[in-house]
Amino acid sequence: MREIATSLVKQLRAAGHEAVFAGGCVRDMLLDKEPKDFDIATSARPEQVMGLFPGSHAVGAHFGVIVVHRDGENFEVATFRQDGDYSDGRRPDSVVFTSAEEDAKRRDFTVNGLFYDPLKDEVLDFVGGRVDLEARVLRAIGDARSRFQEDRLRLLRAVRFATVLGFPVETGTWEALKELAGEVVSVSAERIRDELNKIFLDRNRVRGFDLLVESGLMKAVMPEVMELQGCEQPPQFHPEGDVFVHTRKMLELLGDEVSLPLVWSVLLHDISKPETFTVDETGRIRFNGHDRLGAIKAGKILRRLKFPNQVVDPTVEAVANHMGFKDVPHMRESTLKRFMARPYFEDELELHRVDCLSSNGMLDNYELLKEKRAGYEAETKPLIPPPLVTGHDLLAMGVVPGPRIGELLLGVQTLQLEGVLNDRESALIWLSERMKDEG
Ligand code: ATP
Ligand code: MG
Repeated sequence: MREIATSLVKQLRAAGHEAVFAGGCVRDMLLDKEPKDFDIATSARPEQVMGLFPGSHAVGAHFGVIVVHRDGENFEVATFRQDGDYSDGRRPDSVVFTSAEEDAKRRDFTVNGLFYDPLKDEVLDFVGGRVDLEARVLRAIGDARSRFQEDRLRLLRAVRFATVLGFPVETGTWEALKELAGEVVSVSAERIRDELNKIFLDRNRVRGFDLLVESGLMKAVMPEVMELQGCEQPPQFHPEGDVFVHTRKMLELLGDEVSLPLVWSVLLHDISKPETFTVDETGRIRFNGHDRLGAIKAGKILRRLKFPNQVVDPTVEAVANHMGFKDVPHMRESTLKRFMARPYFEDELELHRVDCLSSNGMLDNYELLKEKRAGYEAETKPLIPPPLVTGHDLLAMGVVPGPRIGELLLGVQTLQLEGVLNDRESALIWLSERMKDEG
């Protein structure tokens, strides 16, 4: 990809324009990380870029960004620009095409403001980004306060880059971030969601969580999580402390790679504990129905953040079911198989694992499930095998259409899962006996 980007730079230079690699890719190259994409910044105007690269197209023509397709990859080629006023705290009212230096200065953080000339193998630094990269610090370009004020998304981007890069935030930038955190609410829910996802999917997610909390951004975007603070847990199960500490510890216990529903179900699994908290006559702490109410509350939060159903459904399901794991030792075969065959079981099992490890440390049910699963896998049959009989069979036997059909089919399936009925013949015999009994 780097070679193709270099060839684009060569072509722009040959046509008499300035052209360099810009932003994230320069930062990542200097950190010896593989850049996700190579963005090019140039003095060429958008129409000149389009003229040089037939088949390219403008995205946000207004910002002067052209997407060039080459050898199956997409490259953004953007004209050096300076942003006009940001009256909405999100988008500049206008842009002016200018010099490389001005373009560097409109960027968010010094480490994101570097250019690189691939032909001369030279870094161009107008913002002090090199020193900050070497010192590993995240610093706003220019006056942090006004940079956050003009685009409030940068508040979350600061936490995201501090998390992903593992850099501390420079003091002045951090003070401004804390001061303005509350203003993040003027950013669209979709953009907030995307930044939160990048933070929580990263392996440094606990640091991201802490920075969100300490900056005040968590309170602004998900006050429900802050309300877990001070919500006491039964001390016999939770020697560590309140629900907030327990949730944070679970984030710590997750592996590097997680799915969105898994990480969001960890964050939200106990979200209704503050409301369902009661102390019974013996002085024991109880949470009545926090899984059900939590599922509803988790769904509301995720929908407020405009998550698609693909994420909302499995997350809500995991929150609703997480208490069900305590019943595993008492489940009969059929119940257990249905429990394990639920579509999001894999993530739910991991949620259960970190939930246990972050509280009483008892992995008995987790181990039992792993053992059962290994046993079922060795049988190489699906957990829920194809049905032995169908509704048509029951109608043919004279069962009146209605809910009874479903009940009988479920009865057959239960015995099939228990290993009592194993073929169609025996299922039909069982059914006719059953119907004789019922008269
Ligand atoms: P990633 O590796 O996640 O893509 P990136 O640094 O490339 O990180 P992008 O969001 O792709 O980040 O943006 C590319 C560059 O554009 C940034 O490095 C930064 O210089 C600039 N930039 C992006 N968003 C903003 C913003 N909201 N304010 C100022 N500059 C920005
Ligand atoms: Mg990028």
